[in-house]
Amino acid sequence: MQQRTHSFTLDTSRLDGVLDQPLFRAVAWEAKAQGVPAFAIGGYVRDLILGRPCKDIDFVVEGDGMAFAQTVAKRLKAEPVHVFKNFGTAMFMFGDVQVEFVGARKESYTRDSRKPEVEPGTIKDDQERRDFTINALAISLNEGSAGALVDPFGGLLDLDRGILRTPLGPDITYSDDPLRMMRAVRFATQLGFIIDPPSFEAIKRNAERLNIISAERIHTELNKIILTKKPSVGFILLRDCGLLERFFPEFLELQGAEEKDGIGHKDNFYHTLQVLDNVCAKSDDLWLRWAAILHDIAKPKTKRFDPAHGWTFHGHEDKGARMVPQIFRRLKLPLDEQMRFVQDLVAMHLRPISLTKEEVTDSAVRRLLFDAGNNIEALMILCRADITSKNEKKKERYLRNYELLIHKLAEVEQKDQVRNFQPPITGQDVMTAFGIEPCKLIGDIKIVIKDAILDGVIQNDRAQAWQLMLDTGRKLGKEPLAGMEAPIPASVAE
Ligand code: ATP
Ligand code: MG
Repeated sequence: MQQRTHSFTLDTSRLDGVLDQPLFRAVAWEAKAQGVPAFAIGGYVRDLILGRPCKDIDFVVEGDGMAFAQTVAKRLKAEPVHVFKNFGTAMFMFGDVQVEFVGARKESYTRDSRKPEVEPGTIKDDQERRDFTINALAISLNEGSAGALVDPFGGLLDLDRGILRTPLGPDITYSDDPLRMMRAVRFATQLGFIIDPPSFEAIKRNAERLNIISAERIHTELNKIILTKKPSVGFILLRDCGLLERFFPEFLELQGAEEKDGIGHKDNFYHTLQVLDNVCAKSDDLWLRWAAILHDIAKPKTKRFDPAHGWTFHGHEDKGARMVPQIFRRLKLPLDEQMRFVQDLVAMHLRPISLTKEEVTDSAVRRLLFDAGNNIEALMILCRADITSKNEKKKERYLRNYELLIHKLAEVEQKDQVRNFQPPITGQDVMTAFGIEPCKLIGDIKIVIKDAILDGVIQNDRAQAWQLMLDTGRKLGKEPLAGMEAPIPASVAE
């Protein structure tokens, strides 16, 4: 069941101020001078009436949009104009506002492509080919009607009612360009609108057509959904209208709460969405939000039941981390350090919570800090968001221990500074001290030193680490060279 949650107050008086602005005055002036009807249209008009900020403004002219843009830019001293011949559009910057012009057009589509045949048309033709009535609103900049809303499809009423409706029959609109189905869910999530029920049914019927849309365009809309205040709304819509399975089947597999011998497990689809919404309340970071989406992604693949332990998902964090590149590759998301950040968080997401279940030792905290490095804050946000237990007692205990852990982390971080810890002894040091070539002994000694520091046996200090290196070498049957009893100056090379 869709719920309307939008809370905008429509205010059409905001339209009145438009003609006071230099940009709109210039367009109106040129429209009159050239006898070319011109209109502001689309997202800008929608957002103006809703009172949302908007940094790009689209204009449509009944004529040559590219030539018209040149004259307006010249009048405003806002050149250069960037012309995109293939799209018939022209763009320039006016201050920090991106201004785009296009000639009004009529479109007809073929079945296997979202690239239409285009011919010149009227403003109404142009409005008709837009995705939703609320995105088809235009403001006239023409003499006699300047400042008036041009609304042949009832967009203003839909904006007021909070409804996403297509100007044409929804099957035509969605089939012509299936990306619009993703946009429907995106706007519903962003604006708190509902998708008009006939439109919703049409999306279900046409969901399979998403196959002709590139992964890049799909992930652009998906990321916009993820960046809203409450992305769970969008994911549930994507599932309900059959789009999610087209590009993200792993996420759907999280659905379901199985029961055996009277023991159940939680539905990981809803759990994940809860974690995602929780993260969104704390952070705007897209990739941290992605980590929330993927933190339990391998639970279906690692799920086991045995009567002694009930349901287990052993290793889901590691398997999940290995699934991240596959999913990112398919969605054409970046395969760079942002993906690695998501991977690291998925791999580590159980670490803090496991610490909150037991007595926290300095040593465990140091290890967590060392392993998480600069991701520690993000990891702690994810971990806090992951506490969704319905058992209030359990939840309370976890939260208390979580607070304790946060406190301990700050304390240990300040005392020992192990977050970006560089071992005080390098491999080169070991080779010099013992007069040896690269071999396994070097790695073994380095691990002993690292563990000793993280366990608090020695401090993160070169002299103490040097001594431990000598002792460990001896224990393993290697005598240091003469004159190596005291630390030599730190070597730069590893
Ligand atoms: P936002 O800028 O927040 O993403 P928007 O509605 O302004 O939202 P844009 O992609 O900037 O979206 O597009 C501007 C306008 O172009 C839209 O308001 C709509 O009228 C039209 N439009 C964009 N994409 C499509 C599409 N796939 N099908 C039909 N019309 C579209
Ligand atoms: Mg826009």
